[in-house]
Amino acid sequence: AEAPPIMAVPQAGQEGLMLLKRVGKVDPESIDDYLATDGYAGLRRAFEMEPGKVISEVKDSRLMGRGGAAFPAGIKWESTAKQAATPRYLVCNADESEPGTFKDRAILEGDPFALIESMTIAGYAFGASRGYIYLRGEYPRAHRMLHNAIEKARERGFLGENILGKGFNYEIEIRRGAGAYICGEETAIFNSIEGYRGEPRSKPPFPFEAGLFSKPTVVNNVETLCNVPLIMQIGGAEYAKIGTEGSTGPKLFCVSGNLVRPGVYEVPFGATLGDVLKLAGGVPQGRKLQAVLLGGAAGVFVRADELDIPLTFEGVRAAKATLGSGVIMAFDDTVDLSGILLRIASFFRDESCGQCVPCRVGTVRQEEALLRLMHNGRDAGAKGRDIHILRDVGQVMKDASICGLGQAAWNAVESAIDRLGVLEESKSR
Ligand code: NAD
Ligand code: SF4
Repeated sequence: AEAPPIMAVPQAGQEGLMLLKRVGKVDPESIDDYLATDGYAGLRRAFEMEPGKVISEVKDSRLMGRGGAAFPAGIKWESTAKQAATPRYLVCNADESEPGTFKDRAILEGDPFALIESMTIAGYAFGASRGYIYLRGEYPRAHRMLHNAIEKARERGFLGENILGKGFNYEIEIRRGAGAYICGEETAIFNSIEGYRGEPRSKPPFPFEAGLFSKPTVVNNVETLCNVPLIMQIGGAEYAKIGTEGSTGPKLFCVSGNLVRPGVYEVPFGATLGDVLKLAGGVPQGRKLQAVLLGGAAGVFVRADELDIPLTFEGVRAAKATLGSGVIMAFDDTVDLSGILLRIASFFRDESCGQCVPCRVGTVRQEEALLRLMHNGRDAGAKGRDIHILRDVGQVMKDASICGLGQAAWNAVESAIDRLGVLEESKSR
């Protein structure tokens, strides 16, 4: 069954938005609405340039990946364009499955043509012949919107052979995931599209050298790509003036938890954590903020007195936190955080693909140690040993796991112990 229409986008209809400017305002199934609101202006501008110039505009914009890893998008495109092997592919990672992450869904459901246009510009820039959208299986409405957008774009000559008479041929296909969190990892996506079990591959080789079908491939997140039409329209240098020196452009945040107005919010980089919580109305009256989880289950807890952390890549780095996929999850004083930790640990145990030992065994041991720690009546010595086990196992997962799932599976628990003092004997080693 389809989810209710459009995610909570409390800013919908407001002036001055960049990424969310059409969400909730236009009919997402109408290409005419899209064209009437600047749609395809970015592609037309890109087609006035040589592909190499499009890449240099994106490099000048200093656009960093919005999926969580913040890798410079222009460098990814350039490294792929330099590869001699063909064909080249673009994979849009729309397998948005980090707990607490729903920003891409707002675009996919509310402005699907924007993604199709953005993928076409990217394909033109680095010479891809085909783009794939790897879509989270639990997003049926997004699937319908994207399918419709691809069909209508093709009918109007924005996809297919000789797009807009420019001699550029390009197609976009949708592939749906089937509920596995690990299939959002970029190399697991390749395996899944190729028809194999969705397990990550060891890197290197990186996708730009040997990705989908072993060909040079760019993998970009939905939100990352949807910045590109704006970059084409105003130019990379002008775009780089939005935000801060180290974090340019607008940013979407997925704000959830014990707040008055949870939802997807767009702010230019530079706002603080406190600013965004204020936008969402803060915690309900009569309650007190206890902690905030930044970056999702793979992220980091921060304290209620750390609201001045700037939500920029450099700001969170300095605060030893992360933006991850833009998750801001607020917990008020009614929440038992140890229960939340257990839920996170069981999520990673469940979603580990089991391919490598540190993660396959480590996620089980982490959950077991947490369960014992929450069991009343254990003496201080036994609790200290369990904290030691958590730290030991966490470090091994971080150092020796093949992919980001295992490497990050201990982040939230570690930060809750060290920053919030959630579990007793938290400082014992
Ligand atoms: P990563 O650091 O391994 O890679 C980042 C990207 O840069 C990849 O595309 C990689 O191929 C590319 N890259 C790295 N070195 C390169 C080079 N020298 N040249 C060209 N490209 C290069 O990170 P990752 O494992 O892809 O992503 C981890 C992040 O994913 C985490 O921060 C987490 O927050 C996020 N995540 C997001 C979701 C979600 O739902 N959005 C879910 C799970 C995890
Ligand atoms: Fe699979 Fe975990 Fe290893 Fe990643 S770290 S490959 S999810 S077992």
